[in-house]
Amino acid sequence: MSRHESSSPPIARRARLAFVAVLLSVAVLAGSTGCESLPASVSPSGSSTGSPILAESVRQRPHLPPRGATAFDERSPEVARLDAALLAALTAGAEDAADDGVALHLTSGWRSREHQERLFAQAVADHGSEAAAAEWVARPGTSVHETGGAVDIGPEAATDWLSRHGATYGLCRVYDNEPWHYELRPDAVEDGCPATYADPSEDPRMQ
Ligand SMILES: [Zn+2]
Repeated sequence: MSRHESSSPPIARRARLAFVAVLLSVAVLAGSTGCESLPASVSPSGSSTGSPILAESVRQRPHLPPRGATAFDERSPEVARLDAALLAALTAGAEDAADDGVALHLTSGWRSREHQERLFAQAVADHGSEAAAAEWVARPGTSVHETGGAVDIGPEAATDWLSRHGATYGLCRVYDNEPWHYELRPDAVEDGCPATYADPSEDPRMQ
């Protein structure tokens, strides 16, 4: 694996992300106790960017999932086995999303072949046939999650943020029917994200 080659910048970013997350937690606490010493960077009225997105996300702050569910923890193989460049892009995006008051949560990262087999079997049970299942879940052996090249992100506020800002980091939605599934497309930084497929069964990699 080559992920150690670029480990320094992501670690630095994670440290900053953790700091931002702590600031947000402090802001939530301060807000709930009526304390007026909100950090300027997350103050609804004193935003340094004046962004309406920030004001909106700050209002939604109490609904953010608990920070402990955020899986940028490399002790988890779901994170540790992600492609290093994808993880770096995701970490950078998460840091900026946090600045906007939006928490990006990893709901699925790297998957073992066995995990993908279980997901596909469940999809066959749910949808009635392998062909129908393949519109929702990649067949075992073809999922980009198995190579650490894809992430599923939540909640909806996070995928909404990524749909607007992801290309800046090379993070692109791939399937129309999976707004949570993102992969790295480095050219998107310059050119924007490529056209999406309707569903995984249209993806040539899935054949
Ligand atoms: Zn996915």
